[in-house]
Amino acid sequence: MSNSYEDADLIIVNTCGFIDEAVDESLEAIGEAMERNGRVIVTGCLGAKGDLVRDAHPSVLAVTGPQAVDAVMGVVHAELPPQHDPFLSLLPPGGIKLTPRHYAYLKIAEGCNHRCRFCVIPSMRGDLVSRPVGEVLSEAEALVEAGVRELLVIAQDTSAYGADVRYRPDFHGGRPVRTRLVDLVRELGRLGAWVRLHYLYPYPHVDELLPLMAEGLVLPYLDVPFQHASERILKLMRRPARTENVLARIRRWRAICPEVAIRSTFIVGFPGETEADFEVLLDFLEEARLDRVGCFAYSPVDGAAANAFPDPVPEAVKEERRERFMRKQAQISAERLRAKVGRRLRVLVDEAGEEGATARSAADAPEIDGRVFVADAGSAAPGDMIDVRVTDSDEHDLWALQADADAGTSHPTRDRRSQSVGR
Ligand code: SF4
Repeated sequence: MSNSYEDADLIIVNTCGFIDEAVDESLEAIGEAMERNGRVIVTGCLGAKGDLVRDAHPSVLAVTGPQAVDAVMGVVHAELPPQHDPFLSLLPPGGIKLTPRHYAYLKIAEGCNHRCRFCVIPSMRGDLVSRPVGEVLSEAEALVEAGVRELLVIAQDTSAYGADVRYRPDFHGGRPVRTRLVDLVRELGRLGAWVRLHYLYPYPHVDELLPLMAEGLVLPYLDVPFQHASERILKLMRRPARTENVLARIRRWRAICPEVAIRSTFIVGFPGETEADFEVLLDFLEEARLDRVGCFAYSPVDGAAANAFPDPVPEAVKEERRERFMRKQAQISAERLRAKVGRRLRVLVDEAGEEGATARSAADAPEIDGRVFVADAGSAAPGDMIDVRVTDSDEHDLWALQADADAGTSHPTRDRRSQSVGR
């Protein structure tokens, strides 16, 4: 591993081809690697999109597709024949992970059986293929043994896990375990690390996870992309369309597990979206009071069925709707975070220094959600779990003091934090 283009023997660029902006960014990254180093292997989704990469950068060493570890390593070894090194030869077969030591992504499946009309992932990654549950659990155990404190479970559609193999049983530690998300989560919950579930398609069986969250087996965090709230637009998108049901389910989830933080993503400006559809979405947002929300202006990615739909929404209108949407959510988020002031939370430290620590609570996934700034983290180090009491909040983040040290101490505010803990 090298931190600079100049010191690297060759560069592997892992690309994304999900939306046009990602394609541009990937091509730009390849261009930069070509200019600064010149020996470049391209992998990831964009490689599966025909000659796009070769047309833009004809001199790359190789273009491979997603999940092409063997193909990439084949080119690496052809270009740089491996030499025995007593240190490097000791690397575990699982390789080196790129996240900090205390958290890791655990990929449980690849591909997707849905055909949402704005999405080209199934054409790039294929239908759902679930990893055997025994293999996933062995990887999770090894990660926890190596110091991982938080496992982030991912796939294109985690809640479909096992549907392709009819939820067949596998073995782990001599015990049968079904290839099914709820069963997997029960087992992961025994490992002693935080378990966070991402990208849950809103199937009915997602509701079965809530009691496990209330029990503390998995973090009370639901990442469910709803995409829209207007039934008409949801049907055009080919997504589950009963918004009334969604609101009732959210109420039920909160009744079973009041702590649950709900994260979702939405698309505004889908072809045919009217001002009335958008208002329905804003009303939904007001009523659902979600904790974490992302919003994208619809982007007509090459190959998506929705591109052929009539009534595209002008770019300026899309952007104006996205801004209105985010303004509303910022207000909701600020209110929800303000309600946490005074509460005690367990947080996981990501970074620590003399001036305090940056940490995350159960409601905060790394990089995409908010953070908890702890002014008096003492000797806490990355990967430590500490208890804090919340003293202040804004639209995204919280400020806190260690719970057992806060009595009689003046409470830090955002201003004080901005001097003491850099963002
Ligand atoms: S469920 Fe997700 S990955 Fe699958 S088609 Fe829909 S948006 Fe794409």
